[in-house]
Amino acid sequence: MPGEVKVMTRPEGKGSYVRAALKGMGVTLKHMVDPHKVTQQYPEEKWELAPRMRGTHRMAVHEDGRSKCVACGLCPTVCPVNCIKLIPAEDENGERYAAVYEIDEFRCIFCGFCQEVCPVEAIHLSVHYENAEYSRERWVYDLERLCEIDHPYTALWDPADPSSE
Ligand code: SF4
Ligand code: SF4
Repeated sequence: MPGEVKVMTRPEGKGSYVRAALKGMGVTLKHMVDPHKVTQQYPEEKWELAPRMRGTHRMAVHEDGRSKCVACGLCPTVCPVNCIKLIPAEDENGERYAAVYEIDEFRCIFCGFCQEVCPVEAIHLSVHYENAEYSRERWVYDLERLCEIDHPYTALWDPADPSSE
């Protein structure tokens, strides 16, 4: 059954905008003196982030600074928005490594699949959200940049809440 259309009638005569403006200012003044206001003075004040928060990626590195990625190809395969670019290569010992590894953080939906699927725990999300940029190009994080990021790793799930897994 189709929904009914509610017809609104215009109020008769000329309405007073002064009264409406004063009413709005009254609301503002009321909140200015409210001792329980929750306005946060960002960036001086910041929320304490949950350990399972999924933010900007980071790449784990070996002691010598090399990326732990073995270019297996699982994370670009599982990524639901196709925002990981990987070009694998092999060194003289036949070891695979990522010649190119990029993540477009602008397209990423921070699902965490890449972290979950990585067999060597190389790629991680981190507890971090302050990643504003002035250009779209800067949102594509290359391997060097991912390896330099040192924000805390996300816990992905809340260990105290088994239903969150
Ligand atoms: S968090 Fe999800 S969307 Fe983002 S890169 Fe990883 S798999 Fe792709
Ligand atoms: S799943 Fe891990 S090892 Fe495989 S390509 Fe991605 S980051 Fe590299």
